[in-house]
Amino acid sequence: MKKIALVTGGSRGIGAAAALALAEKGWTVHINYIEQKEKAEAIAARTGGIAVQADVADPEQVAAMREKTGPVELLVNNAGIARSGLLTDITPEQWQRMFDVNITGMYNCCRSYIPAMVHEKAGQIINLASILGTVGGSFEVPYSATKGAVIALTKALAKELGPSNIRVNAVAPGYIQTDMTAQFSAEDRAALADATAMCRIGTPEDVADVIALLAESGTRFVTGQIIGIDGGLII
Ligand code: NAP
Repeated sequence: MKKIALVTGGSRGIGAAAALALAEKGWTVHINYIEQKEKAEAIAARTGGIAVQADVADPEQVAAMREKTGPVELLVNNAGIARSGLLTDITPEQWQRMFDVNITGMYNCCRSYIPAMVHEKAGQIINLASILGTVGGSFEVPYSATKGAVIALTKALAKELGPSNIRVNAVAPGYIQTDMTAQFSAEDRAALADATAMCRIGTPEDVADVIALLAESGTRFVTGQIIGIDGGLII
């Protein structure tokens, strides 16, 4: 196996950590990004792949990215956005954009990368869900809804692709310290650490290590699973 992967949203946060963890396990990792070209290129230089700009929400940009990367054995659908606020304060445009990036983006990437996997009868997809996709979050209704959809997509796609020897799993992080959660106050962080069995907020590496583990052949009979990585967070 050639061990070539693509991590969407691999320029920073969980995606960058996942790319580096995969590279440590011998994967060549292509890095997708939307804005942060320099960061993406710096990560790609360490993972042996190329940095590719594409808005995952746009099927044409994703198809162009597929042309640049070629086929991959592992697709990590990590790119995502979040916007907090009361549901009634979220504009239709914000609602739509969250769905376009977080779930339609996964569809666009799957649609571009799956055919070669089916042809090879080999491959893996790892999707980024969230603890909020199962328990829901106040002020996070659209985000929670997109992550619930990621969980359903993962389970359904695992059934569809299992006969082609392609595994599909998701990881569901709790609260992880990245730019996405940078707006949390010190009090919020302390409360979340208190609500976590491991008594701390998660790091991108906490998630990345599980993604790298899932990518290994030792998990060959694991598919359709949603793996919680939340340190025992109860919310
Ligand atoms: P982050 O630090 O905000 O990074 C987001 C990444 O996604 C960046 O690489 C960004 O690229 C990329 N991106 C955003 N929109 C994109 C688009 N339309 N097309 C392509 N790339 C795009 O986020 P994170 O915290 O690492 O989260 C990564 C994933 O984990 C997301 O799916 C998120 O929902 C999920 N998650 C995070 C947490 C958490 O607590 N942080 C918890 C559960 C699940 P640029 O750098 O170019 O902007």
